Amino acid sequence: MRPHAAVAAIEHQAGRVTGLRLADGTALAADAVVNCAGPRAAEVAALAGVALPLGREPGLLAVSRPVAPPPRLVCHTAAITFRPDPGGGLVLAHAADLDRTVAADTPADPRRPPAPNSSRAPPFRPDLTRAGLAAARIGVRPLPSTA
Ligand SMILES: Cc1cc2nc3c(=O)[nH]c(=O)nc-3n(C[C@H](O)[C@H](O)[C@H](O)COP(=O)(O)OP(=O)(O)OC[C@H]3O[C@@H](n4cnc5c(N)ncnc54)[C@H](O)[C@@H]3O)c2cc1C
Repeated sequence: MRPHAAVAAIEHQAGRVTGLRLADGTALAADAVVNCAGPRAAEVAALAGVALPLGREPGLLAVSRPVAPPPRLVCHTAAITFRPDPGGGLVLAHAADLDRTVAADTPADPRRPPAPNSSRAPPFRPDLTRAGLAAARIGVRPLPSTA
């Protein structure tokens, strides 16, 4: 495990990966490389000369304060998606109407939606409305692109 070590180059020969070079210059031999760089996966694939058509779709993410009992499952509603946050609260995302209003460089404002207000909170978690938000940020979804 090499945490916080950016891959700066992928060495390849005759169409096969032979190793990696990290940003600090460390060279690592490898028979195979798994690219799981999320929104940056296209950049990493390009290091191996591979074009990976990946779109970047910004969206609002908010994290609620802890709720009890902590959520265990993902819940999709028409207005928003809720999923467990390791901190004991919920991550709120996929408010399509709000996502359309942001770009990847929009400053996140925790006072703005997606707030768990009465129109978006699921009726079976009324405590979410009382808990309120702990943080909000803009995230970028890596989505397959045809462009
Ligand atoms: C607004 C929004 C809403 C979402 N809603 C949902 C949802 O409801 N349900 C769901 O399942 N998913 C959802 N997702 C998607 C989910 O969060 C991602 O699919 C998931 O986090 C991707 O995990 P990952 O490990 O593939 O990528 P990431 O979590 O992005 O991790 C990629 C890692 O690669 C590292 N990296 C990048 N470049 C390099 C490099 N050159 N060298 C080394 N490391 C590098 C990064 O530092 C990062 O640690 C949502 C995402 C967003 C933005």
